[in-house]
Amino acid sequence: MSEEFEANTMDFLVDLPFATIDIKEDSEITDVPKVNLERSKENECNNKEQIKKRKKKRKDYQPNYFLSIPITNKEITKGIKILQNAIIQQDEQLAKAMSSDGSFHITLLVMQLLNEDDLNIGIDALLELKPFVEEILQGKPLTLPFEGVDTFRNQVGFVKLAEGDHINSLLEIADAAKRTFQEKGILAGESRTFKPHLTFMKLSRSPWLWKKGVKKIDPKLYEKFIGHRFGEEVVHCIDLCSMLKKKQSNGYYHCESSIVIGPKPIGIRDLINEALCRERMGLQSKVKEIKALLLKPEIQAKIRRELFEGRFINNSNQGNDVDFSATLT
Ligand code: AMP
Repeated sequence: MSEEFEANTMDFLVDLPFATIDIKEDSEITDVPKVNLERSKENECNNKEQIKKRKKKRKDYQPNYFLSIPITNKEITKGIKILQNAIIQQDEQLAKAMSSDGSFHITLLVMQLLNEDDLNIGIDALLELKPFVEEILQGKPLTLPFEGVDTFRNQVGFVKLAEGDHINSLLEIADAAKRTFQEKGILAGESRTFKPHLTFMKLSRSPWLWKKGVKKIDPKLYEKFIGHRFGEEVVHCIDLCSMLKKKQSNGYYHCESSIVIGPKPIGIRDLINEALCRERMGLQSKVKEIKALLLKPEIQAKIRRELFEGRFINNSNQGNDVDFSATLT
């Protein structure tokens, strides 16, 4: 098997439904060099190195967060429910593959945020994205009409977006998002072209289906919905969501931060949420600074000295190490 073939095969395998938990599958970052095998020995070595690096990056890059446009219009969600039930009636095993109520969304960008620092940078990036989105939308609402059904390689079933200018707006927003997050040093994006879609089922939700030999979504299952108009969603926010944290009680993903978009905010609650997010971010970074300061031995010594001089510390405590930062956790 040639290495180029192996690399392509890996790209394919990465999306096969082997996952045991309901997370978004592996993705690749965009800046991974494309492999171009040359005949010369020197180039062959370079290429082997490139392939190794590429595989390592891919292995290390496991998206766990994503930017989501929630789809909440009741007309659309009811239509999806009817579609899901129609499929389940034809094959009840497929119930395990269905996306749950409340979780419907369009993924704009996937990314990897490994710790609290990354998360704060992500929250920051989302706020920075807002003016770019406003510039793209030029004060107009972003309305997404959903029509018809399709699949990715018969593995992922999704409701399609109807043709129109809104697709360009979404592509531009996704592009701006990728740039904004990557410029902040976050591993974000995929090498494949962004294709906005509204997932309603995916076989990888249940490895059990794969074992049972259910390996493809038969197009006959959804043929009655090929031209169905599901309705329109007026986009009102973009959320930064976790793929792994426990979902909210309404079925939607755990949301770390949110920006309100569109000409008019939905309501005061959204504005308050946005303001709170900003406050939380500022506070978190201040608390981190203070904790780092308190952990410095010279600062601890200074505090002990000042407490001692002020007679606020009794003799028995002198000389003991005090973890001042613990009080802040
Ligand atoms: P999502 O709706 O973002 O949860 O995506 C559902 C599934 O579709 C995930 O497993 C993605 O890896 C897969 N997916 C998303 N975009 C594409 C694409 N352009 N081609 C193939 N699979 C995709």
